[in-house]
Amino acid sequence: MSIMGGVEAQMRLEDYIRDIPDFPKPGIIFKDITPLLGAPEAFREAVKRMAEPLRGRNLDAVVSVEARGFLFGAALAYELSLPIVPARKRGKLPYDVISVTYTLEYGEDAMEMHTDGVMAGQRVAVVDDVLATGGTLAAACQLVEKAGATVDVLSLVVELSFLEGRDKLQGYEISSVITY
Ligand code: AMP
Repeated sequence: MSIMGGVEAQMRLEDYIRDIPDFPKPGIIFKDITPLLGAPEAFREAVKRMAEPLRGRNLDAVVSVEARGFLFGAALAYELSLPIVPARKRGKLPYDVISVTYTLEYGEDAMEMHTDGVMAGQRVAVVDDVLATGGTLAAACQLVEKAGATVDVLSLVVELSFLEGRDKLQGYEISSVITY
């Protein structure tokens, strides 16, 4: 970080998010986080900004969502010295799982977590890279609740507020580093 007039300039993390128009299909502007991952200072700053609001909340675990959510979830769990629990697409986890189905634009999918991933009564943070329409995070929250645990906070790097994903996530506290 540079020092300007004695005050630390805020790193502009937006500068490390690349817009890819029409990916993966026409009309979608994909927020590519790989420039952020490729710049250690920016990545550290993003993880720091995700971690700060989560401190002192008595969290028991970080649940992170396949696949880009793992990148930030793992760093955040490391930073906060918490266990990290993967939430994955159907059929990927090797041990006994709990499962929820959720609706995609076409058809449906299932998200799974190991039965010993989070325990009843625990408080967890759910982490992903991007909040778009909110369907993915809503499924992850359902999974945590099915295990008898509580979602204390949702933590994202990027929130696409114009897609109104918060409507699907009412009642949850949401912490985003960058909002568009
Ligand atoms: P959603 O369920 O619509 O909130 O979509 C969230 C998931 O899809 C996240 O795991 C994101 O990684 C990915 N995603 C959806 N839309 C975008 C986008 N415009 N740019 C980058 N990732 C996206």
